[in-house]
Amino acid sequence: MSKINKDMIILASFIELYCKHHHDNQDTVMEINKELMLCSECYDLLKYAVKRRRNCPKDPKPACKNCDTHCYGPKYQREIRQVMKYSGKQFVKKGRIDYLLHYFL
Ligand SMILES: [Zn+2]
Repeated sequence: MSKINKDMIILASFIELYCKHHHDNQDTVMEINKELMLCSECYDLLKYAVKRRRNCPKDPKPACKNCDTHCYGPKYQREIRQVMKYSGKQFVKKGRIDYLLHYFL
């Protein structure tokens, strides 16, 4: 599996968890070859994040907070930060700390 897809699957798990705990009206969607339960807003956020990640010219990609290129628009940046903060905590509780590496905290 490519590094990008691995990153995106982690991100998708974060968004899915956040969505499940905060939103209603999830639908099954397919993204990065994975079936996910997301509301339309979160699906939109995920698609945006996938696009940004694929277009990221940096290799290796730095953690976003250490990156000098702020490639997310303000609205998406706010949303993704919220997702990372919330789901990051949940994953830490479950001992999935490896999921946090390289992400937006
Ligand atoms: Zn949602």
